[in-house]
Amino acid sequence: MRQDQVEPDQRRSARVCAGAGEAASGPVLFDAVLLDRDGTLIEDVPYNGDPEKVRPVPGARAALDRLRAAGLRLAVVTNQSGLARGLFTEERMRAVHARVEQLLGRFDAWLVCPHDDGDGCGCRKPAPGLVHAAARELGTVPARCVLVGDIGRDMTAALAAGAAGILVPTPVTRPQEVAAAPQVAPDLPAAVAEILRRRAAVDPATWRRADPATDRSATDRPDALRQVGGRRAGTVLVVRADSAGDVLVTGPGIRAVAADAERVVLLCGPRGRAAAELLPGVDEIIEHRLPWIDPAPDPVDPTDMTALTARLAAVGADEAVVFTSFHQSPLPLALLLRLAGVRRVSAISDDYPGSLLDVRHRVPAGVPEPERALSLAAAAGFTLAAPDGPALRLRPASAPPPEVGAPGYVVLHPGSAAQARGCPPELAVRIVRALAAAGHRVVVTGDPGERELTAWVAGDVAVDLGGRTSLAGLAATVAGAGAVVVGNTGPAHLAAAHGVPVVSLFAPTVPFGQWGPWRVPTVRLGDPEAPCRDTRAARCPVPGHPCLSGVEPGQVLDALRLLGVTPPVRPGPPAVGCGTGVPAGASIGGSSR
Ligand SMILES: [Zn+2]
Repeated sequence: MRQDQVEPDQRRSARVCAGAGEAASGPVLFDAVLLDRDGTLIEDVPYNGDPEKVRPVPGARAALDRLRAAGLRLAVVTNQSGLARGLFTEERMRAVHARVEQLLGRFDAWLVCPHDDGDGCGCRKPAPGLVHAAARELGTVPARCVLVGDIGRDMTAALAAGAAGILVPTPVTRPQEVAAAPQVAPDLPAAVAEILRRRAAVDPATWRRADPATDRSATDRPDALRQVGGRRAGTVLVVRADSAGDVLVTGPGIRAVAADAERVVLLCGPRGRAAAELLPGVDEIIEHRLPWIDPAPDPVDPTDMTALTARLAAVGADEAVVFTSFHQSPLPLALLLRLAGVRRVSAISDDYPGSLLDVRHRVPAGVPEPERALSLAAAAGFTLAAPDGPALRLRPASAPPPEVGAPGYVVLHPGSAAQARGCPPELAVRIVRALAAAGHRVVVTGDPGERELTAWVAGDVAVDLGGRTSLAGLAATVAGAGAVVVGNTGPAHLAAAHGVPVVSLFAPTVPFGQWGPWRVPTVRLGDPEAPCRDTRAARCPVPGHPCLSGVEPGQVLDALRLLGVTPPVRPGPPAVGCGTGVPAGASIGGSSR
């Protein structure tokens, strides 16, 4: 393990993960599953205080037993406002929970919010208090938890804590909630299968442990694993040829390769170069524009391709791992790698690769991009080594520019290389005014081409850093932020890498579950059902940019409160707000203990 892969200052997510301390070790994607109760584990009987009315959903017992057998800890996280309304007693609720455990087996923790919406508690979902409390009680951190629930409140609570979420809709789940969810499964057994599949995909040790009778992953494992297990690779050429954000989300996959390689050479494009320089584990960078990846490609020039092939041959790579996005083909580059004499090439390819690939990996649609990269690395025989874990990480940040002041400011990054994924400028102006009026110190960031935009957005109430930082300087600025307000673009991933909460103004041109901020507390805003959904458009195809233009600045303030990001205390009367401390309801324990 090389020192640049485990810099302790890259673990600042602990600061936003209440409870458990440093828990990362190896590629543990999830070690706990949190389950909503009504509508998810058992049929929803409103305000039920009668154990006789407990009916598990189909397949629940077997599904939960699969999780238990895989070593995952289980907790129930449930809103029970019937307690606040006096519709049943705590004693009756305990009897219901005893019946649930009788039918479904034991849970490691029960976390109950006894409040109602008007109580302003920090535990009633969509607030993240129950998720924090469950993680703490299970001895883990929210980033290593996945919450399964049937409504949008469950998903919001999970994401706001930095946990993963899987929505299992019922007939009462609203279409908007389904559209907004990071991942959707048709029922509880399918959600459980997906949790085990995602976990196994990044951790080959799980393949070896898997039960062949119940888990397809045991038979799906690539032959590569047996060939290369335990070996140490020499020089490995890794490839991610598109933009800064793409390079950042590939970081965990590249670190997995670096954990087992003598030397890692990264081939990137000019748009990803600055991000490549921030990644731990990279020894050398080759920059070259690949005309089959670039969105505004030059014609293919035979001389240029010959030069690239010679350059790749000069690396002397023992093997190559070609990382791509789901709509890109690794095959043109694989051919050049063959011409350059690279003997072993691994990539994800739905297209038939013939003899271009030695490890042809397949990944279902919708998997988070960093997990996609980690799963390719794992298929090629490379896994993160403890104490490195599955998180975005960067080389240690430099100092932010002095004009931003003390840490704790809110960064608003209005622009994006793809206009469709940026914040509408008029909205950005209103958000900055609202943040400043609420007492937040605001820093507006942007690249050199966005100076006019950032100057207008910052006005005279925010610090304007537009065009005045390198990507490394932007990363340093983000590292000192209390939160970042940003579209689906590079700085969201910089924030995730520094454990800084994100208010994500997410245009649904690509799936949120695949491209949203990964393993960091996040609130998603914007219309998930807008007509641009899944178009992958770079310029918004709909007049008025409706997916984001309907966002109100007040929603951004509410999102920051949900994330526990409050303005610095100013002299004067104490601020009145929603509590973010340990929820009172968390002390209501399980029925069987
Ligand atoms: Zn509560």
